Amino acid sequence: MSNLYPTALLTCHGKQVALEEPLAQAGYAVFTVSDFNTDSLGTFTGEIAREGTMLEAARRKAQLACSLSGARFGIGSEGSFGGDPWFGITGWGREVLVWYDAEEQLEISAFVQGPETNYANKCVSDLEEALTFAAAIGFPQHGIVVGQPDGIIYDKSCSDMQALSICVSKALEYGAVDLATDMRAHRNPKRMQMIARCAQDLATRLATHCPQCQAPGFGAHAPVLGALCEECHMPTQQARAVVFKCVACGFESEKHLRSEVTANYCDYCNP
Ligand SMILES: [Zn+2]
Ligand SMILES: [Zn+2]
Repeated sequence: MSNLYPTALLTCHGKQVALEEPLAQAGYAVFTVSDFNTDSLGTFTGEIAREGTMLEAARRKAQLACSLSGARFGIGSEGSFGGDPWFGITGWGREVLVWYDAEEQLEISAFVQGPETNYANKCVSDLEEALTFAAAIGFPQHGIVVGQPDGIIYDKSCSDMQALSICVSKALEYGAVDLATDMRAHRNPKRMQMIARCAQDLATRLATHCPQCQAPGFGAHAPVLGALCEECHMPTQQARAVVFKCVACGFESEKHLRSEVTANYCDYCNP
């Protein structure tokens, strides 16, 4: 382990579980910085609004990890959740990781998204409805949030059905109760899995060095559209290549993906 670079991760929610192994493979030993309350940078439950974009929030955490620990390398993680981008019906998760080199002031990021998330909420008016919701979201392995931050009852700490029943019953005395999946990583195993997927992407990037300056993080930057339709040979909106770019020196190279795609993607053959 001694030849790995110490890398500070700012988290209060046990995210090292998802990051340690892939990052070690890329040459970085993750250690946590947990004496900083990351909730002060924004919470999913809305007590504190996050400032700026996901990427900006993750960057701020990565830079804080470096400044608080004195380590050269730091990592910040940020997620967001909502409905899917097409119909908004099924849950959709997004995760970003930013790796920061405080000495070179370089930043490498990775982003994943998908429906593999446990994100749901429901307003219930009796205990039975609440327990049905809890069972459906996989409680107690997945955490639950009872009530709203500004409400009389507001609790993210229920760890079993008995504690949940007591908490919900008390809240129901004041009317209908909002329930939601806890999106904090240590209380949401699905989210932890998505962070692990993102960590894998980040590790792959970190392990890929620029052919020109040898800096880590030589990775996919932008698609090159225009793969040809296999029927009519007109260019389509599908990628034919991807541009890899170095975050340090700006060197770019194009990686070929495919020359042709099926006519399904063609605006002429299949408008
Ligand atoms: Zn065509
Ligand atoms: Zn370079």
